[in-house]
Amino acid sequence: MENLSGKIIIIDDSESIQFLFTEILDTVFELVQFLNPIEALKNLETEKYDCIILDLMMPELSGTDFLKTYRNYDKETPIIILTAKQCGDREIAELFKIGASDFVTKPFLSAELIARLNHHIKLKRTKEELLFTNKELQAAISREEKLNEKIINKTIALQKSIARIKILNKKLKYFAAHDKLTGFLNRRAFFAFLDNDIKRLKRIDSHLSILMLDIDFFKNINDTYGHLIGDFVLAEFSKLIKEHLRDIDLVCRYGGEEFLILLSDSDIHHSLIVANKLREIIEQFIFSTNDLKINITISIGAAELKKDEKIDSFIKRVDEALYVAKKTGRNKVEHAK
Ligand SMILES: [Mg+2]
Repeated sequence: MENLSGKIIIIDDSESIQFLFTEILDTVFELVQFLNPIEALKNLETEKYDCIILDLMMPELSGTDFLKTYRNYDKETPIIILTAKQCGDREIAELFKIGASDFVTKPFLSAELIARLNHHIKLKRTKEELLFTNKELQAAISREEKLNEKIINKTIALQKSIARIKILNKKLKYFAAHDKLTGFLNRRAFFAFLDNDIKRLKRIDSHLSILMLDIDFFKNINDTYGHLIGDFVLAEFSKLIKEHLRDIDLVCRYGGEEFLILLSDSDIHHSLIVANKLREIIEQFIFSTNDLKINITISIGAAELKKDEKIDSFIKRVDEALYVAKKTGRNKVEHAK
């Protein structure tokens, strides 16, 4: 085996043995020698060695006790024990148990000792290299894990963004079809629904009616109390209307205070019942805010869709019915001709 350079500490109370070590090892290794094991222990608190050679029989501290003490804080540095010829099997086994790496019987052969030292130094260095590689691997794994975590966090953030965008799109879609103040459909959305319902009606034998509502003298409310109160009345009015209609009935804010109500599967008789009910509810309701108590009434025109009638004509007829209701006294329901 090629000689490895290394730093070795030799702890032996015999000066002649120490001299022998110097003779044999000084040219191969860097040697630090101690006759007193207690001083050696102190030295080992601050110095690192590639190998420790330790005598068993020493007056200040036995090699066994030294080994027990030292192994409490360093389990890695190889320790070769110098044993006397009379050392028994059991004693040697015990030494290995408490942390000896190897043993050499005195008197020893120099070539054997050097070979053993080289072997332990090489083993120690291989262990250190493995440990280093392991640390590098762990660092790489840790970097990878951090990267994965970042990717996961980015993905979560992205998913949250997508969810927000979906909600925004839903809102956009809603506001594209609805009036903000009343929550009712706008004209474009309402007429799309009406068109669909008329098409559906052609396939099944049913009825379809429309109510056109107008709040009587609504301009007076705005002029007297201001637009905020006017908006309040409109919003409350809308809630009230919604509460008294079926879920399938569609309401549209047709103009400022003008509304269309699509009553699917309703003939003129049913639509007149609905219209009168709404008229009565509104007439009896008191809109109250900030000490104000406001009463309003509504006029309603009602019309049932005729066979093959176009939307324009249908709307025109219900509009005319509303006109008649307004002209003939308001707070009433008229049906179209
Ligand atoms: Mg001795």
